[in-house]
Amino acid sequence: HVDFLLLGGGAAAASAAETLSLESTGKSILMLSAEDIPPYRRPMLSKQGLLGDAPALLHDDAWYRAQQIELALNTRAVSVDTDQHLVTTDAGETLHYDKLLIATGAQPRALGCPGERLPGVHHLRRWADREAVRDDIRAGAKHAVVLGGSFLGMEIAMTLNALGLSVTVVELGLLLLRHTESPEVSAEARRGAEEAGVTILLGDQVSEIRGEDRVTQVVTAAGRTLPCDILMVSVGVAPATVFLAGSGITLEKGLVVVDDQLRSSAADVFAAGDVTLFDDPVFARRRHIEHWDNAVKQGRLAARNMLGQGRRYDEVSYFYCDFGRFSFSMLGMPEGAAGQVRRGSWADASVALFYLEEGVPRALFSMGRPPEETRAAEGLIRYRVRLEDAAAKLADP
Ligand code: FAD
Repeated sequence: HVDFLLLGGGAAAASAAETLSLESTGKSILMLSAEDIPPYRRPMLSKQGLLGDAPALLHDDAWYRAQQIELALNTRAVSVDTDQHLVTTDAGETLHYDKLLIATGAQPRALGCPGERLPGVHHLRRWADREAVRDDIRAGAKHAVVLGGSFLGMEIAMTLNALGLSVTVVELGLLLLRHTESPEVSAEARRGAEEAGVTILLGDQVSEIRGEDRVTQVVTAAGRTLPCDILMVSVGVAPATVFLAGSGITLEKGLVVVDDQLRSSAADVFAAGDVTLFDDPVFARRRHIEHWDNAVKQGRLAARNMLGQGRRYDEVSYFYCDFGRFSFSMLGMPEGAAGQVRRGSWADASVALFYLEEGVPRALFSMGRPPEETRAAEGLIRYRVRLEDAAAKLADP
């Protein structure tokens, strides 16, 4: 029997474990992680981690021992029985819980293209994936193709470029970083990447992956043939919730549906991080977010609610992205905005874009800007402040 059973070894489970250990006494906490190292800063995988740094662990082994948190690595939950409060693991163990947290995150989507399983074709989600890419580079890989020009794809492209590989990004859409919903951001990201020597192909996709023992070429739908020793597939993720089939927990498109206190449809079962579809009171709608800050904060809040505190999740969503000289953050929800107002200039690498909806700022893209501006924008977004003459006011420095 465990008081608090946490499924997952990522940011959400780790921040929940930390909060539970700080805010309760004498309760047992067990984390199950499918990975072989303790929770670490996953975002570094495509940045310093790929460049060669050691994993940035959130806590070392001594910390888990001191907090009396049991961390079971290489252990997967394979089923959940919410009536009996039981979880079964791939080691054949059955665990009884008082409160359960689902924080199993996401896993890379497959392309569904022949050749996808050839050596040299990679996803980047776990530390083991980073090891495999670095092994290929050490073995002499020179040409990389990156499929997907969103945040992760662009970070990987710029890091491989910094490691001296020739890099081509193939993006199906006509914009890079499409989640920013900004042609201006896309164009600037493209300019920065091309200046660094990365080739960008928009409106194209892979149609064939070629190679005998390992990948050697990628053929695109537009008929291009690209030499390739490393193919990085970065075309999105799917929630890691297959093990919840038959549990009775309500899922939508594989995501765990939770309310604004991060409670699932089953008694005593909570969820946090990339795996959730949650009620966001700031925008009064259901949202799904795949970013670090959200995972950390939801993990913390879910833990408090596992302790019976009944708190609402009402954060203004935030993320950062970092590639080459292009390093920015985003607050709020760009989807659905009617237009963008710019302060600052790209030439000075100092740009704020306010996304407006009927005079109400709903998101902020921010690069090289003063922190006071970001703080002020957060308030405007959180409280849905309507500004008279918003475009003119926001553009005026
Ligand atoms: P995850 O981090 O996915 O952790 C889930 C854990 O559960 C994993 O350890 C997994 O192995 C384990 N697991 C899965 N199934 C089971 C099971 N059945 N039983 C037991 N364990 C299981 N976000 C940003 O905001 N900024 C960035 O710059 C950024 N860069 C990123 C770069 C990369 C390469 C990646 C992959 C992600 C990046 N992100 C970034 C996203 C961010 O890392 C995620 O949003 C965050 O890690 C989500 O945390 P999580 O705990 O919800 O899930």
